[in-house]
Amino acid sequence: MKIKLGEHSGFCFGVKEAIRKTEETIENNKGDKKIYTKGPLIHNKAVTDELEQKGVSILDNLDEAEEGSIVIVRSHGEPESFYKEAAERNIEIVDATCPFVSKIHRLVKDASLKGRNVVVLGDKNHPELKGIVGWARDNCLVIDSLEMAKQIDFDNITLVAQTTLRSDLWNSIADYLTKNKEDVIAFNTICGATRDRQESCAKLAKESDVMIIIGDKKSSNSRKLYEIAKTYCEKTFFVENKNDLPLKQIELCDRIGVAAGASTPERIIKEVIATMSEVITEKKEQEMDAVLEQASETESNATTSEVEQKVDSPQEETQAEVTNEETSKVNENEEESNLMNEFLDEIDKSLRLPNRGEIIDGEIVHVTDKEVVVNLSYKKDGIIPKEEITIEDDKELTEVFKAGQSIQAKVIMTDDGDGNILLSRKKLEISEHWDEISAAHDNKSVVNAKVVREVKGGVIAQYKEVSGFIPMSQLSDRYVEKADEFVGKTLPVKVSKVDPKKNKAIFSHKAYLAEEKQKKVEKIWETIEVGDVVEGTVMRFTDYGAFVDIGGIDGLLHISEISWGKLNHPDEALTIGEKIKVKILSMDKEKGKISLGLKQTIPEPWSIIDENYEVGQVIKGKVVQIKEYGAFVELEPGLDGLVHISEIAYKRVANVEDEMSVGETVQAKIIDIDKERKRISLSIKETLEPPVVEAADNKPEEIVEVVEEIADEAVACEQ
Ligand code: SF4
Repeated sequence: MKIKLGEHSGFCFGVKEAIRKTEETIENNKGDKKIYTKGPLIHNKAVTDELEQKGVSILDNLDEAEEGSIVIVRSHGEPESFYKEAAERNIEIVDATCPFVSKIHRLVKDASLKGRNVVVLGDKNHPELKGIVGWARDNCLVIDSLEMAKQIDFDNITLVAQTTLRSDLWNSIADYLTKNKEDVIAFNTICGATRDRQESCAKLAKESDVMIIIGDKKSSNSRKLYEIAKTYCEKTFFVENKNDLPLKQIELCDRIGVAAGASTPERIIKEVIATMSEVITEKKEQEMDAVLEQASETESNATTSEVEQKVDSPQEETQAEVTNEETSKVNENEEESNLMNEFLDEIDKSLRLPNRGEIIDGEIVHVTDKEVVVNLSYKKDGIIPKEEITIEDDKELTEVFKAGQSIQAKVIMTDDGDGNILLSRKKLEISEHWDEISAAHDNKSVVNAKVVREVKGGVIAQYKEVSGFIPMSQLSDRYVEKADEFVGKTLPVKVSKVDPKKNKAIFSHKAYLAEEKQKKVEKIWETIEVGDVVEGTVMRFTDYGAFVDIGGIDGLLHISEISWGKLNHPDEALTIGEKIKVKILSMDKEKGKISLGLKQTIPEPWSIIDENYEVGQVIKGKVVQIKEYGAFVELEPGLDGLVHISEIAYKRVANVEDEMSVGETVQAKIIDIDKERKRISLSIKETLEPPVVEAADNKPEEIVEVVEEIADEAVACEQ
C-alpha cells in the first residue's frame, strides 16, 4: 500500500501572502485598533479560528466595522465601490487581494471603460466573481456553462475567467466564442497554481485506487479538485481533516492519492497522511499476528524468530514502502522540483516519531498562557508547557513567543498522554546556562541571580536554570543579620566558584558591590579637581572634623574648615547624613586622601561687611565670650562684636557676668565698624530707654545719687 501526495497541494502563493499580511497587521497593530477580515480570510476553519483567537473578526459588510478600524481584504478581492466606502467611513484597508485577481480587475475595468462587453466565466455567487463584476460597468455578464455561452447575442467581447475555473470548461467556452462571435479578446485568467494543481490531481487520480481531497467544504478550488478527481477515480472522498477519513475503505486499497486545495494548511495535510499511515501500520500488525498464529499452528520448521524477522517492524516496513515508492518516483522524474522533494521528505518524516532526548527544531503554531504548541513536521505536534520554559522578568508566554517563530527544544516524552510530544526548553537550556556561568567565572563578568530561598549560612540564588549559593558574608558590603530580606530580589553577582559536573556554583553580591565601588572611586578621581565644589554626605564625626562621602570616596572636612566661626565640635554645625556642598581643598590620589572645606563655599563675613551691616543698625546675637571689660556677641559665624562694660547699661556695671551669660541672646546697636582692625563695637545701652531724671526739690537724695552714677560712668568711659 502506498500513499502519494499530488504536486502543488496546499497553500498557494496568494493565500500565503494573505496570511503573511494579516500576521503583519496583527503584529504592527499592538491591539490598538479593531481588525476584521471581509469574509473568512481563507476557506479553512482551523486558520480562521486561530485568527479569531488573535482578535481578528470576520465581517460580512463594511457597516459592521467600527470607525477607525482595519479591514483586511482577502485574496478573493472586493468590488471597486468597497474601497470608496471604506475611505468614507474612515476605515483603513489592508489589501491582500491576490495579484492574479487584481489583474482581472484591471482587465475588466479597462474593457468596460472602452465600451466592450465583459463576459466572466465562473460561479456568480463566489466572492471572487462578485469582486470582479464590481470593477466593470453594466455591460458585464457572468456565465458558467457552454449552454449559457451559446445564448450570448452580442459581439465585441472581452472574456475572462474565475482564477479557479476548470481548464476544460474555459477551453470549450473560449473556443466557442472566438469561433462564433466577432471581436472576441479572451484572457485566460485561470491561475497558474490552480491549473497546475488541477492537472497533477487529474494525473494522480488516474493512477490511484482511492483519492482523498483535503479542503474546506466552502473552498471553491478544493471542490473543483474533487470534481476532477472523481472524473478519473470512482473512489474519491472529500475530507476537511483526519476525522473525515473513510478509513475502512482506505484499508482495502493499495494506491492512495492525496490532493489538497489552495487554502488547506500543511499541518492538516500531514495529519491526514499520518492517520492513514497508522491505519496501514495496524493492518500490517494484524497480518503479522496472523502469520505468527499460522506458524505456531502448522508447527513449521521455521522458528518463531525467523517468522518474526520476516514481519518485523511493520511500521518501518510501511514507511520504507512509502519512502521507496516515493524515492523511486523521484528518480523517474528527475525534473520534479526541489520543493516537491523537500515536501515529500517532510511527509516521510511526519510518519515517524522523534526519540526521547532528541533535540529538534520546529515552528510555533499556537501560544497560550500555559503552553507553546510546536509543529515538528512529525505526525504529532510538540507541546512545551510553561514550566518547561525559562522566561525572564515574569513575562507571559504570549508576550515572548509568537506563531511562526522557529524554536528548538528537547524531547522529554514522545506521548504526554494526550497524544502530543512533550518538549522542554529548560532541559535544552540548562547546559547552555552552565556554560554561561562558567564563562562569567572565567571572564570575571557579572550575572543576575534571583534569590529564591534562605538556607543555613546564606541563600540559594537562581541564574536561569542554574542554582548557586550566596554565603551570608557575600550578600552585601554591610553586615547582614537576616538573609530573608533578600529573598525574591534579583542581585547582580560575581561567580566565585563553578563546577558544572557537581552542579555547584557560588555567587557573591559583595564582590560585585566592591567592584562597582572601585569603578566609582576611579571615576571620581578622574573627574574631580582641587577647587571643585561637590555634593557630599556627612558620614561620621571625629574630634578634629567630619568625614564626608563625595560619591564613593570619604574626604576629611577639618573642624577649622567647617565654619568661619569657632566650633568646639563638628556636631555644632553638622548632622550625620546631612547633604552638604563642599570645596575640594587638596587631593592625594596615591594616599587616597582628600581635604574638604565647607566654609569656603560661603563668603568670609568681613569681605561683605558693608553689604550686611552699618553703624546704628540694631542686631541680635548670642553672647559667646565674657571678659572683664565686656562681652563678645556673635552677629554670625565668624563675625563677633564687643559690648564694652560701659555699654551694657545706663547704670554702673561692676561685673559683666552679673548682667550677661554665655549663650544668651541679646539685642545691641552697632556703634562702630573698624574694617582695618576687624573690630565691631556694640552697645546694649543704646537700645534701652534712658532713665527719667525728676526735679531736685521733690527728691533731693535720689537726684544726688543719679548724678553721682552718671559722673562715675563718664569717668569709666574716659578710662
Ligand atoms: S489560487 Fe491563484 S489566484 Fe487564487 S489566491 Fe491562490 S494564487 Fe491567487
